[in-house]
This record gives sequence, structure tokens and C-alpha cells, in this order.
Amino acid sequence: MSVLNPEQQAFAEHAESVATEFAEDAYTWQGDVPWENLQRLADENLYCPSISEEYGGQGMSDVAVMLLTEAVGRVCPDTGWFVYTQCSVGPRAIDLFGSESVKQEYLPAVTAGDSYISIAISEPDAGSDAGSMDTEVTEEDGQLVCNGEKIWVGGVPFADAAVTWVRFPEGLGSVVLPLDDPGIEIEESYTNMAGYSQTHFTIDDVVIPEENVLTRGDDGFKQQLISLNWERLGSSALTVAWAEAGLEQALDWASEREQFDQQIDDFQGMEWKLAEMYRKIETAASVVYQSAASADETTNAPSRLTTSVAKLHCSQIAEEVVSEAVQTVGARAYQQGHPLEFLYRFTRSRRIAAGTDEMQLNTIAKALKEDGIPDVSAR
Ligand SMILES: Cc1cc2nc3c(=O)[nH]c(=O)nc-3n(C[C@H](O)[C@H](O)[C@H](O)COP(=O)(O)OP(=O)(O)OC[C@H]3O[C@@H](n4cnc5c(N)ncnc54)[C@H](O)[C@@H]3O)c2cc1C
Repeated sequence: MSVLNPEQQAFAEHAESVATEFAEDAYTWQGDVPWENLQRLADENLYCPSISEEYGGQGMSDVAVMLLTEAVGRVCPDTGWFVYTQCSVGPRAIDLFGSESVKQEYLPAVTAGDSYISIAISEPDAGSDAGSMDTEVTEEDGQLVCNGEKIWVGGVPFADAAVTWVRFPEGLGSVVLPLDDPGIEIEESYTNMAGYSQTHFTIDDVVIPEENVLTRGDDGFKQQLISLNWERLGSSALTVAWAEAGLEQALDWASEREQFDQQIDDFQGMEWKLAEMYRKIETAASVVYQSAASADETTNAPSRLTTSVAKLHCSQIAEEVVSEAVQTVGARAYQQGHPLEFLYRFTRSRRIAAGTDEMQLNTIAKALKEDGIPDVSAR
């Protein structure tokens, strides 16, 4: 019997069936946005399922987000990446903390598959130590004015706005920063290992409308940390999907390739390799769904402990599994243009992005020292 409820199960089946349409163009996107795929998901009422219905989402729990990310990312890793960023990161933070007017302004276009919202946290001197950031919002003549710089921001060439972490006079918070403001200047555009753009931009006297403030004040930073839990979990579902994509290709190849007069998947050494890959995927997926299902009603998010465990574990097993898939296919997988060669580069990013492995370990240790091991009854 499935651990999913009937609504979630129907949603997953629907997502899997629509995702099959993305197979033909999978591994061809090279950093371009698969807008038609996102719009197709939107037309099928699958996209951004946890965003409220009034802004074009489905008002479902985030379990549905993880199901969608996994189902899509497994068939088309690039479309899966866009699903992750828009269902679990920037737009999710706007839905959780935004004013009515900022939600109306940005969310319907995102949930229709027509718009992209970036997340801007990192600065040249503030990476893992995001709390030391310098980008600030000050009050000048009754207006909120933002100055600073951000780096490594994904999606900037096609994004309408960025959920941007800033320092207010009273502490850290976040705002929605329109990226078409003349005060935004691109310093440098990088192309990462997977062919995606990452941008360094400066922010010079950009006026932030009061309604674009997402989090501020005593609870501001705490709320932001809550939104990171969804980012970590979405990333976890994505890396499970990418590991599945790797295993699928390894299984297919090993059932066709013959050496020493037999299929290579008949060698016990190969069977064990494939079995180990699946063991890693299955345990990783269990952690993701267990965490998603445990979302707390007050904070509307799962704990930092379970999401950090998921992020760390899934990023690592995905790298291991995809590497083993390359090993299974051999020289062909090592050639530029082979799907596994791309997947190998894409997967490597997740041990750095959305909080490095080391930062997940720090969070896990902090949670254990403060709260101890969770009770059995909390399972
Ligand atoms: C593909 C990709 C996409 C990204 N997209 C975005 C984006 O859209 N928006 C955005 O704002 N940022 C983005 N980033 C940046 C990402 O958030 C940072 O790379 C990450 O936070 C780490 O910062 P850093 O790279 O400056 O490394 P640093 O913080 O300089 O860390 C370097 C090394 O030191 C380790 N380290 C640091 N502190 C400790 C510690 N206390 N204990 C033990 N080890 C430690 C780190 O784990 C790491 O291994 C992206 C990065 C990548 C790779």
C-alpha cells in the first residue's frame, strides 16, 4: 500500500504521465528555460502545487511539490531544476511571507509558467556565512532604499524579480527586488559547470515598495530560515530524481551491453553495483517524504534537522549514483554530449548550492545539541 493519500497518489500519477512528454527534449536545454514544459505543467494544474489556489497554485501540501519535482526531474533533469526553484524557493517564500499585493503581482505569472523568480542571498564576502551580508535596506525620506551586491544568482537573465536577503537597521530580512530597476547593474555573468548562468550584480539606491518586504523585525530572520527548509527539501527531491535518471540509464545499458560473451548485468559485480545504487536512492527518497509529511502546522515547514539530513544525504547519494552510472556505461558516458556526462556535472552542484554539505552537518549538530534526538512518537 502507498504511504500517499489518494489525492497525492492521483497527483503523482498525473505528474508522471505529463512528464513522459518531456523525454524527447530532455538533455537538450543547455541552460535555456524549458518554458513550454513549465506551461504544460501549469495547464495541467500540476505546477507550484503548494501555492495557494487564489494565486494559481493548488493549495496542496508540499508532499505534492516533492512528488512533482521527482517525477519531472527523473525524465528531464533541467525541467526538474526549474520546478524545484519555482515550487520550493523564491515563489514559495513570497507565498509564505508576502503581502497581498506582492503575491498578486508576482505569483500568478509564475504559476502560469510565464515568469521566473530568482533567489539572491550570496555576496562576494558572504557565502556560507550569509549572516555577515552587507546588502542593506535603509529608510531615507520615508522610503526604503536598497544598496549592495549579490553573486552566484541563478536565472537573472530571464527573471522578473529576486527574493533578496538584506540587512535592515534592526537585523536581517528579505525583500522582493524587481530586476528591471535601473539601479541594478550586472557586474559579471558566469556560466557554471552545467551550462547555467550565475550572475554578480550591484544594487544602487533601488527603492523598495513597502509591500515588497517579505520578512523583517524580530521574527524576520527566523522566518527566512523556515523558507530555507523548503529549499533544502526541494533540492533533496531533485537529487533523488537525478539519481533515478542515472540508475535508469545504467540499467538500460547494462541489459544491452555484452562483454565476455554475456550481458554485463549478468555479472554479479554489476548486479551488486545496480542494487547498491537503488538502495541509496530508496533510503534517500524515504527521508525526503518523511520530512515533507512532518511539516509543522505552526511554521508551515518541516524541521531544520530533517531537511538538513535530507539535503546532505540526497546530494551525496546522487553524486555517488550518477558517478556509478557513468562507470556502468564506460567510455561512452564520458564523452561530451552524453546525457550522463551532463548529469554528472549537474549533480555536483547540489553539494554546494542551497547550503554546502558542511553547513548541513553544522545545522544537524546544532539541532542535536539543542533538542536532542527526536522522540519515537515524532516519527
Ligand atoms: C550551482 C549553484 C547555484 C547557486 N545559486 C545561487 C543562487 O541562486 N543565489 C544565491 O544567492 N547563491 C547561489 N549559489 C551560491 C551558494 O549559495 C554558495 O556557493 C554557498 O552558500 C557556499 O558559499 P561559497 O561558495 O562562497 O563557499 P564558502 O562559504 O566560501 O565555503 C567554502 C568551503 O568552506 C566550507 N565552510 C565554510 N564555513 C564552514 C564552517 N563553518 N564549517 C565547515 N566548513 C565550512 C564550505 O562548506 C565550503 O566547502 C549557488 C551556488 C551554486 C554552486
